[in-house]
Amino acid sequence: MKPLGIDPQHCLIDGEWVSPANGEYLQLVNPSDGTHLCEIARGSAEDIARAVSAARKAYDTEWGATTALQRSRYLARLKDLILQNTDELARLESIDVGKPLTQARADVIALARYMEFYAGAADKLHGQTIPYLDGYTVYTLREPHGVTGHIIPWNYPMQIIGRSIGASLAAGNACVLKPAEEACLTALAFAELARQAELPAGTLNVVPGLGAEAGAALTRSKGVDHISFTGSVNVGKEIQRNAAENIVPVTLELGGKSPQVVFDDADVDAAIPFLVNAGIQNAGQTCSASSRILVHKSRYDEVTEKMAARYSSLVAGPALKDLDLGPLVSQRQKQIVEDYLKQGADLQTVAVGSIHPEAPEGGAYTAPVLFAGTQSDHILAQQEIFGPVQMLLPFHDEDEAVTLANATDFGLVASCWTRDGARQMRMAKKLRSGQVFINNYGAGGGVELPFGGSGLSGHGREKGFEALYGFTTLKTVAALHG
Ligand code: NAP
Ligand code: MG
Repeated sequence: MKPLGIDPQHCLIDGEWVSPANGEYLQLVNPSDGTHLCEIARGSAEDIARAVSAARKAYDTEWGATTALQRSRYLARLKDLILQNTDELARLESIDVGKPLTQARADVIALARYMEFYAGAADKLHGQTIPYLDGYTVYTLREPHGVTGHIIPWNYPMQIIGRSIGASLAAGNACVLKPAEEACLTALAFAELARQAELPAGTLNVVPGLGAEAGAALTRSKGVDHISFTGSVNVGKEIQRNAAENIVPVTLELGGKSPQVVFDDADVDAAIPFLVNAGIQNAGQTCSASSRILVHKSRYDEVTEKMAARYSSLVAGPALKDLDLGPLVSQRQKQIVEDYLKQGADLQTVAVGSIHPEAPEGGAYTAPVLFAGTQSDHILAQQEIFGPVQMLLPFHDEDEAVTLANATDFGLVASCWTRDGARQMRMAKKLRSGQVFINNYGAGGGVELPFGGSGLSGHGREKGFEALYGFTTLKTVAALHG
């Protein structure tokens, strides 16, 4: 197993592929069949320290001296290289995290698209002039933070690399990336492509390893000026605490319990594919998955029946078979999901998908499950499951729909299905959510669309132009010239 010809046991530090300082390694498993894939570096605090100082050196020298136009061209080169390697990147992701090939390929295209978007945006980021007292000229400068730390999860490695590393590099920062131990291969491949795009040494460093070791070292490092994290709420809290020690800004994207609200006047047939796909895409291991389907009582039976029909055709199987769902990322994640499913015993099980008969024994498969109930405070209606599990809940009127939609501690994504224009506007205002979709869900995941949450979903925004504000700091310059 050599992603793009490189040794997966290595870290990329200061432009070189190097062995981890302590000579220790972690084992990667293919979740589709449980077989051993390869060894990756178990990076330590020492590797992180080397990576952070390499990033600092790049920032203080060649990378820090680049113009926005030069950064734009580096990112455009990287985009071309990603597209040239689409098949290999998609295959790597499929065997590493169990993503069906079509979904893995979509992630490669998204990664390339992030590079393209941020290549285009790099030289459009600018400050302002501010009218002030007589005799003054005042303006603002958008400056990079310096060295940014990126800790990403295993569910969408390429998309999250794209949105956080792409924006950070465009803004002029040098980066240190700690990918999830369960999803390292495309991060290593991306690092190799950055090397081939001739990014100056140290501009992008990648250190695989455990969260509690390499990850924690990165968030505690005094050499890091900004931290971007996507993952679980508990780790997010710890990262924010660590960052507080050094007064470093953090962007936290911590998942959700996102609702779709189906009103009495909805086009239900148009909604059904979105209602279901938003729950089962990537086997439900999606921060913006829609796990709660709120339906007006007058359409409840119809929606339940039509979703159930769709569920009965869903099949989970090996990633390379490219079915509706792959396996979950690991046996550990499968156990988490199964523990949740046991807690749904008091709910109505409306429909269950199937597992392909040829799915290997050792794979981490879970069939998708659609529940129904009336208890909005049920654990399955409150906690992020991160598996292919959705719950239907009925409501009686718009006020109750808003109350139910906002009745979790999360606030990442929400959608409403209605033909009533005024109601669309009211719902968009009232839903506590970083993104609201009207008569769709996810808007195709567009890289242009700012993304992030409130409450337990975290804070800060990535994606779109907005991300560039998060990856920069603002300097005000006031000149008195008479
Ligand atoms: P996680 O532990 O939060 O992992 C996310 C990233 O943080 C990984 O790179 C992880 O490294 C790293 N990490 C873990 N502990 C750390 C620490 N103390 N300091 C710094 N970095 C640390 O998430 P998980 O364990 O993989 O998944 C558990 C649950 O989190 C899921 O069931 C799901 O509910 C949620 N989740 C949410 C998202 C999202 O997109 N919002 C993504 C993934 C998971 P290692 O894993 O390599 O140790
Ligand atoms: Mg973990």
